[in-house]
Amino acid sequence: MGNEQIRRDAIAAATAWSMSNTPGSSPQIRVDDEFGADCFSLPEMKERLPKQTLRALLATIERGTPLDEDVADLVASAMKSWAVENGATHFTHWFHPLTGSTAEKHDGLFDPDEKGGVIAQLSGSNLVQGEPDASSFPSGGLRPTFEARGYTAWDATSPAFLVRGANSVTLCIPTAFVSWTGEALDKKTPLLRSMDALSEQALRVLRFFGSDAGVSRVHSTMGCEQEYFLVDRNFFNARPDLMLCDRTVFGRVPPKGQELSDHYFGAIPARVLAFMAEVEHELYRIGVPVKTRHNEVAPGQYEIAPIFEQANVASDHQMVLMETLKRVAPRFGLAAILHEKPFAGVNGSGKHTNWSLSTNTGVNLLDPRDETHTNMQFMVFLCAVIRAVHLHGDLLRSAIASAGNDHRLGANEAPPAIISIFLGDMLTDLIEQLEKGTPTRTLKGGQMDLGALTLPQLPRDSGDRNRTSPFAFTGNKFEFRAVGSAMTAAWPVTVMNTIIAESIGEIADELEASAGKSPTPAKTQAAVRTVLKKVVKQHKAIIFNGDNYAQAWHDEADERGLPNLRESADAIPVLNSRSKVALFKKLKILTKQEVESRTTIFLEKYVMQIQIEVGTMLELARASILPAARLEQQRVAEAIAAAESVGVESTGERESLDELVGLIARFKAAIAELADANEGFPDDPKKAAEHVRDRVKSRMDDLRELGDELEGVVSADLWPLPTYRDMLFIK
Ligand code: ADP
Ligand code: MG
Repeated sequence: MGNEQIRRDAIAAATAWSMSNTPGSSPQIRVDDEFGADCFSLPEMKERLPKQTLRALLATIERGTPLDEDVADLVASAMKSWAVENGATHFTHWFHPLTGSTAEKHDGLFDPDEKGGVIAQLSGSNLVQGEPDASSFPSGGLRPTFEARGYTAWDATSPAFLVRGANSVTLCIPTAFVSWTGEALDKKTPLLRSMDALSEQALRVLRFFGSDAGVSRVHSTMGCEQEYFLVDRNFFNARPDLMLCDRTVFGRVPPKGQELSDHYFGAIPARVLAFMAEVEHELYRIGVPVKTRHNEVAPGQYEIAPIFEQANVASDHQMVLMETLKRVAPRFGLAAILHEKPFAGVNGSGKHTNWSLSTNTGVNLLDPRDETHTNMQFMVFLCAVIRAVHLHGDLLRSAIASAGNDHRLGANEAPPAIISIFLGDMLTDLIEQLEKGTPTRTLKGGQMDLGALTLPQLPRDSGDRNRTSPFAFTGNKFEFRAVGSAMTAAWPVTVMNTIIAESIGEIADELEASAGKSPTPAKTQAAVRTVLKKVVKQHKAIIFNGDNYAQAWHDEADERGLPNLRESADAIPVLNSRSKVALFKKLKILTKQEVESRTTIFLEKYVMQIQIEVGTMLELARASILPAARLEQQRVAEAIAAAESVGVESTGERESLDELVGLIARFKAAIAELADANEGFPDDPKKAAEHVRDRVKSRMDDLRELGDELEGVVSADLWPLPTYRDMLFIK
């Protein structure tokens, strides 16, 4: 069967799917399904655990006190009964190795009972600790392969859940993953450590203001807006680049892209809606509070956002959410693509990561309240964020570096690689007042009159949204918008927690030094005024409310001394710089070795991803595109020969042929250039990343440009790949 036939079949199948209203073979949504039915949640534990055990467990969850063995045994037994009653046969310690995905190794819950039957068992030690063979996970030199021991340790703060397959139910126990010497080999461990550090420092501020009554912990909260693409699975399977790289390395942008903005927030196509409903249903069952769904800017692009939770739980839920999108899509004949830039010429995908601070009593510490100028405590936290982002914007940039995200940052669709903060009018005014002395007013937005009597009067926010800012204050939280759609949110949030904890700590030191630990109101006011004034003066350069896409901002940012790290090759190594190592060490988030190993792993992953892309490009160019171009050349040549054999002159056709031959020659030369650069990768990961930056990327771009040009001239029936039009517009 020729390629053209495959493509035709794929289009026919995709069209049939998109025209049918049946949401696949999967079960329909059941309204009677309880939220969290497949999650070992607090109500479930309350029912099954003795009061004392529950209390001990809650102390671990809420205050981080260590769990003793007897408690672990009882919890394990209750968890096992619950899981088995719900059909589970296996359990797994579920963890986040540094690959950026999740890992699991399943063990049976049932053992022979020596009477010819079986008995379900899960001991406390099974629950609390596991020992998967760690040798195949990246450790960046932390653990030589011969010493492969790695341990998983139960994270009681994140609820266990059931994963249902076609004929299997597995109990998933969220765990941290560490080496036998205790070094973190995963993304969860440092996140938990950073949450501890943040809590410790934030509590100092609450105590200083005397607002710590009943508060034992401050959590970082996180809510992610996940963007993704859906394409028909038949097309996905016919595109080796999507299969291997999760993005297209060739592909001509169709005459219609996103120019009309007719897709954004538009009606959701029937098949997509059915898919979304099923994803939400699965997530609901395991306790992921998904809330919003809509079309995104690019054709074929969508978004799903859960309600925020404690960062650690939200991060686990974020991982399950990404897996669920991938897993459910095939049931509807679709493929979910999480890559940051699967298609050139239309918007890429991000994962806006919303972040705030909340007490265990439920108070959002970044809520400015009505009369913000009187809310000194809020201003302390706000200034801590400003200071942190100014001092460590380069580290934030480093935390979101990846081969995929490099395509977004700096293109005019996503925030640039320059990290700055958007505050909006009200807070900017407040900061200016702080710099001059004591704030005396809070700007108000007023009412919005819609000009029709039947429409309500809406309160107007005191500032518009600024979609171009990488780090924006949005009402009562910060939104880190530069995070890429395919990454785990755990690491960027770990970095946010770390740098902000450090700043809160520094500000708390100064406040306490100038006013004492529990000062009078007058002393408090005076100390806050002096300290914050200084912070604003030193760090206000990070605030930028204008258009982040404009060239003028790039120039201005340069004058302000803000780093602009366009390439991962420059951004990733920031992590391993002396000041960042010291920062992580000071707050006990990561040791020097852990920072080093992470830097190595991130660089290696970056390089490997590019190498896969280059390999895929070369293969497609040589084995698919070039042969099609040759056939086209032959076809034109034959047409000319045929015309001329009957005495018809074909000057125009001869010109086309010349052009085509020239284009093919340039394409071949570009293949050779890229192949040549591909041979020259140094072993050292940092040098290899620089090799990508200096030698590989531009050649990939050149080859792509010529390939896409060929797509524009080769007859449609000869073109070997599904086109952008097929993939983006057949829904
Ligand atoms: P938008 O950013 O488009 O205005 P929303 O206001 O709905 O959208 O918020 C987007 C995300 O921010 C959601 O996941 C939401 O749960 C999350 N979010 C809201 N408040 C907080 C908070 N205090 N901490 C962390 N995330 C939050
Ligand atoms: Mg948002």
